[in-house]
Amino acid sequence: MGVLIPRVRKGVACVLFPLLIATGACAEPVSASPAVADDTAEIDYDITVRIDPVARTIEGRSVITAKTAEELTLVLGRRFEVMHARVDASPLGPAATTGRMRAWRISGDQRTPRRIELHWRGELSALDTSLDHPQTLGGNEPASSAAGTFLPDSSGWYPYIAEKLASYRVSIELPAGQRGIVAGRLVEESESGGKYHARFEFPSPTGGIDLMAGPYAVETQIMRGADGKAIQLRTYFHPQIADLAPSYLSAVKGYIELYESWIGAYPFTEFSVVSSPTPTGFGMPTLTYLGIEVLRLPFIRSTSLGHEVLHNWWGNGVYPDYAQGNWSEGLTTFMADYAYKERESAEAAREMRRGWLRDFAALSPGQDAPLNNFTSRTHGASQIVGYNKAAMMFLMLRDLLGRETFDRALQTFWREQRFRITSWPDLQRAFESVSGRDLRGFFDQWLTRPGAPVVRIADTTRAKSGSGYRVTVTLEQAEPEYRLRVPIAIRTGEGEQFHTLDLERGRQTFTFDTRTLPLEVTLDPDLRLFRRLMPDEAPPILRQAMVDRTTITVLLPESGGVRGTAETLAGKLQNRALKLVPAKDNLPPVAALVIGLEEQVDAWLARHQLPQRPEIVRGKGSAQAWTLSRPDGVTLAVVSARDEASLAALIRPLPHYGRQSYVVFDGAKAIERGAWPTRAQAVKLE
Ligand SMILES: [Zn+2]
Repeated sequence: MGVLIPRVRKGVACVLFPLLIATGACAEPVSASPAVADDTAEIDYDITVRIDPVARTIEGRSVITAKTAEELTLVLGRRFEVMHARVDASPLGPAATTGRMRAWRISGDQRTPRRIELHWRGELSALDTSLDHPQTLGGNEPASSAAGTFLPDSSGWYPYIAEKLASYRVSIELPAGQRGIVAGRLVEESESGGKYHARFEFPSPTGGIDLMAGPYAVETQIMRGADGKAIQLRTYFHPQIADLAPSYLSAVKGYIELYESWIGAYPFTEFSVVSSPTPTGFGMPTLTYLGIEVLRLPFIRSTSLGHEVLHNWWGNGVYPDYAQGNWSEGLTTFMADYAYKERESAEAAREMRRGWLRDFAALSPGQDAPLNNFTSRTHGASQIVGYNKAAMMFLMLRDLLGRETFDRALQTFWREQRFRITSWPDLQRAFESVSGRDLRGFFDQWLTRPGAPVVRIADTTRAKSGSGYRVTVTLEQAEPEYRLRVPIAIRTGEGEQFHTLDLERGRQTFTFDTRTLPLEVTLDPDLRLFRRLMPDEAPPILRQAMVDRTTITVLLPESGGVRGTAETLAGKLQNRALKLVPAKDNLPPVAALVIGLEEQVDAWLARHQLPQRPEIVRGKGSAQAWTLSRPDGVTLAVVSARDEASLAALIRPLPHYGRQSYVVFDGAKAIERGAWPTRAQAVKLE
């Protein structure tokens, strides 16, 4: 019996490592393609678990009710011992083992509902707070300690039916002083006889249960939702950050109000912010689980928290169909991270767009899959497409339809698709029906093509015409041709005129009249078009050497500990097998990462006749990293440290500075950073 255990996940588990937030990173959902969900679940779990975080034991009982006649696969983590199991009156058959899971086939039966009962127990792993974020994510181990318990859905800590959404009730028993939580409504809780009990229910079909517990101080605030219902806002915080509770509660309230007025009523009865002893971040329906150190960062309340709250609409309120592409991260990025920048200033919003486009320009051709292939963030390139390109697509759509129509379409989509699994075509239909426009071409070109259009000003003319002037602008785009609305600005002595040009062919000429002498034409001055920036528009950033898979690595230290440190750093930056090239070799025409001690770096640059250490970093700090464009246009990222300790100090922080063209470190602390100046695509008229 072949056993496949793809898991239906709840829409989204977002990931917010603090330094990734600058890049708008989040999300770690496991892909799944469940059957269509409706408001009544075919599968229901009634789970009771007793957890002892110090002894690291769990014991549970579950009754699964299946209102379906089809064959089912029952799954439980292999580490757990099944004490007793029954399907209606019969015992469970033999189990098959795959990886860390055990699975049982339950053959189809016309008599429904079927009742599956299990009693299981087992040991939990020790919670390792020294893990970094990716390790915590990849861990998938049910882990426990007095400081905190985290039983991720993917660990198989409770028996579940594979590939099915389900409603559930979960009762948690813990020693007094501990509090436990799963997504859903807290129905009752009590503490007596040295025990804490809490019971949660999640009545809508959802995809998996994560359980968290810890020595929490719980604060509650009740707000009224747009539809009049009470919403319980809670913080489950470790004592050392309990004082942060009021500001988190009021920030959550603000976000719920914002999105209720923008999209529709909040779909749940609670939202909790739960602290974790590990440096991690997840978003689930009705709650977000964030590391204590993450919660301490002041900017979390004004950025990622809102992103997580919004996922209760997009991702956990309307589920993306992962098999057909995840639209929820792009829309959430657009309506959270990007919207906050727009509220801040036009300038801040443009800088975010510039960052997206610059990141995209850092990918090597062929590295960017089409947007509808995106399911979840697995590496830098998928985030640049799945989050940023998608967010920019929503921006272009709003520019096309107007804000009012755009918002109305989202409200319609929300009303019609709540708790359903939806794909890009469903979104397209909502925008088409509200706007009355055929958006096939728009969605097709942005979703199904890899890459981005390359647009340039090919030619311009200026002539006297009547009492004013006539300007022609010829635009060119590379194959395959897109249908684009290209913004341009014509600067005259009186100021700037803005136009939007419909570019549909490879080369088109547009004519304009101006009253006063036209001086200059600028293409897409506000960066509102998703396109591949020209080299001058996108000066090199460190990320290029991190995400471009063709990048070669040159380690200048020849041996010893310092060589090992350089290699570790390169591995952290590139997150893949290194393509090492000896320091004495000529450089091939691909991006390169060069790491060494100061004098080695200076000598190497001189030997290859490359520009010396830039003025802005020279002589500063204990280590420096910068980019340069070689004469052949290829990007080079250079990392230079005073000594081995200074190099080692970069291993943790440097990967987070991919957006920069240069960074200066003092130990592990970045003391200066920046991007080389950009130059817009502008042509002087003569
Ligand atoms: Zn997200």
